[in-house]
Amino acid sequence: MFQEESPEGQKMIEFRRSLPAYKEKDVLLKAVSENQVIVVSGETGCGKTTQLPQYILESEIEAARGAACSIICTQPRRISAMAVSERVAAERGEKLGESVGYKVRLEGMRGRDTRLLFCTTGILLRRLLLDRNLKGVTHVIVDEIHERGMNEDFLLIVLRDLLPRRPELRLILMSATLNAELFSSYFGGAPTIHIPGFTYPVRAHFLENILEITGYRLTPYNQIDDYGQEKTWKMQKQAQAFKKRKSQIASSVEDALEVADFKGCSSRTRESLSCWNPDSIGFNLIEHVLCHIVKKERPGAVLVFMTGWDDINSLKDQLQAHPILGDPCRVLLLACHGSMASSEQRLIFDKPEDGVRKIVLATNMAETSITINDVVFVVDCGKAKETSYDALNNTPCLLPSWISKAAARQRKGRAGRVQPGECYHLYPRCVYDAFADYQLPELLRTPLQSLSLQIKSLQLGSISEFLSRALQPPEPLSVQNAVEYLKLIGALDEHENLTVLGRHLSVLPVEPKLGKMLILGTIFNCLDPIMTVVAGLSVRDPFLIPFDKKDLAESAKAQFAGRDCSDHLALVRAYNGWKDAERQQSGHEYCWKNFLSAQTLKAIDSLRKQFFYLLKDTGLVDKQIENCNSRSIDEHLMRAVICAGLFPGLCSVVNKEKSITLKTMEDGQVLLYSNSVNAGVPKIPYPWLVFNEKVKVNSVFLRDSTGVSDSVLLLFGGNIERGGLDGHLKMLGGYLEFFMKPTLGDMYLSLKRELEELIQN
Ligand code: ADP
Ligand code: MG
Repeated sequence: MFQEESPEGQKMIEFRRSLPAYKEKDVLLKAVSENQVIVVSGETGCGKTTQLPQYILESEIEAARGAACSIICTQPRRISAMAVSERVAAERGEKLGESVGYKVRLEGMRGRDTRLLFCTTGILLRRLLLDRNLKGVTHVIVDEIHERGMNEDFLLIVLRDLLPRRPELRLILMSATLNAELFSSYFGGAPTIHIPGFTYPVRAHFLENILEITGYRLTPYNQIDDYGQEKTWKMQKQAQAFKKRKSQIASSVEDALEVADFKGCSSRTRESLSCWNPDSIGFNLIEHVLCHIVKKERPGAVLVFMTGWDDINSLKDQLQAHPILGDPCRVLLLACHGSMASSEQRLIFDKPEDGVRKIVLATNMAETSITINDVVFVVDCGKAKETSYDALNNTPCLLPSWISKAAARQRKGRAGRVQPGECYHLYPRCVYDAFADYQLPELLRTPLQSLSLQIKSLQLGSISEFLSRALQPPEPLSVQNAVEYLKLIGALDEHENLTVLGRHLSVLPVEPKLGKMLILGTIFNCLDPIMTVVAGLSVRDPFLIPFDKKDLAESAKAQFAGRDCSDHLALVRAYNGWKDAERQQSGHEYCWKNFLSAQTLKAIDSLRKQFFYLLKDTGLVDKQIENCNSRSIDEHLMRAVICAGLFPGLCSVVNKEKSITLKTMEDGQVLLYSNSVNAGVPKIPYPWLVFNEKVKVNSVFLRDSTGVSDSVLLLFGGNIERGGLDGHLKMLGGYLEFFMKPTLGDMYLSLKRELEELIQN
């Protein structure tokens, strides 16, 4: 604890008293003591996350219940759980792990005396798995509920069921926006308390003003800079399909642009705007705006909202090469995203040296979870990466898409914390007007497979019945798709009970198909290459195909594929080659020679590590990553495991004299993307292709594919019958026997039983 008189302690006390939440302290505490559930709203930065849990802790200590209380405060992201707990411990003059601690996946810091625990929503859900009544917990605080994340919506259903069983448990919901009523009525009219906040006015500039002020000229070239031409083309195709399927938001943005006349603008600006590409994030434009701020504007930190880890890194690389923005005497360039180290995290909150401008590149996490105090300028690209899901086509996609008006306002507000600020929205005003008011809750726009597994592992009964009680329940068709899918891949039996595989999958926080590949990778001792495949599927294709060097690039990729008929195996070879080259300091040349994106390979590399720790954490593997198993590719085995994961992403192959016909069950005839190694070959010597992703443009295109045989499909993919399998079955049975892992004993046994049944039939 602080010595009350120490100047440091005094300063902290004064700071805490200056926050808007302090004025409401008594009201808040009274409401908590008188009601089982309350909803608290207040602008970001008013002190909800750091203060309210502390007020409760302090009042419990004062009432001599300190030793008996246990407060859990959930955060949607691990980085905020860590940052916030550290901050709260510092405010109390303590070390982390004393009265305040945190727990996130794979990491934590708490001690015997920890009474206030910050954790991710996922951690609390896992705890509920072991302890359905949350024995000993006195207060649960669910933070950032306005984000309407899937886990939070899920948790709310579980907690609402729990409340009658635990009448003394207190539930506090905290939201940064004013839609508290929705939550209040979900909990039978729980009282709502608003903390009035204060921010300085922020001036908004839309793209047309920005072009006027800075004199910048957009050209078609500026707009295709982010990912190279081919990537942009691909993303455009994807985006088109995406718009067509789902988003009224996107089409209304298009409509808005169609009719916009930009009357008040100069002809130069109008001409420039006609080159604006709504599907690009426009790195050059961002660079230009940042340069303008650094050269012309008053002091103050800059916060740039990007869509994700990968474009933050690419932008950072680009800016670092800039003569002004890359000059450490003038600019302190920082990234802020979920997977960064905590040492880097702290720099974000610190004041830079005099004369140095702090520029923080962040994801939408900085909208509400994290407050950087000295921000005066905000640059908003208008997009965020969100999963969207279309139940009819049963196709998920993760694409940058337009944010909501609420999110744009939130981003703008970040500039007015310490003085009046400026916000640069890198899209025209008419596009903003076309944004939706609020973002659709995650539960309504993501596939429900992982969630359904969790419902089962928490023994919450029927999946559809449970989800029908959500704040805004998903469409029945989405639920049905998820259940069917889980049955098909063998995670649920026909009575909707978890199978052994399902139980293992439910503890791995990755998509079931990826989880299944990883688990089988460990069983069949080909984890290393399988981690590469899975990471590749989760990030994106590292193969670059520039327009002007298409042939060269395609033949470079074909070399990696050899005669495997597999984009996935080509990826593994390319990655392994890059790893070897990196070891000899020639990674860069290797990428250049083979048309590979080093950025993407690095992302794959870091994801592989995460997978490995995940598997270690859940007890599925126990070795070090370097020697977890051989990197060498057993082609047959890989095909089997890839097939097991990607099924039912399956199409049949019929080789005709001059062409190849591909068909899927749902779409009829399909085509391959031209950069697949299976595209444009005279013959595919496999009866089937499995694939991860299909995209509907005019026809349906498969992005990636691997050829598999009948026997592999029958054994690993499901129940499509074709004869003549005995020999293969025995061979694969032998593999199973040979590579059996003790921790997976039961799964092995059930697989073996299935095999025996198959052989008998
Ligand atoms: P809310 O949850 O309402 O958005 P917080 O409780 O997170 O607000 O933050 C309240 C205030 O505490 C912020 O405005 C900021 O000034 C300060 N603060 C929060 N976290 C930190 C930190 N890690 N370092 C310095 N100041 C912080
Ligand atoms: Mg907060």
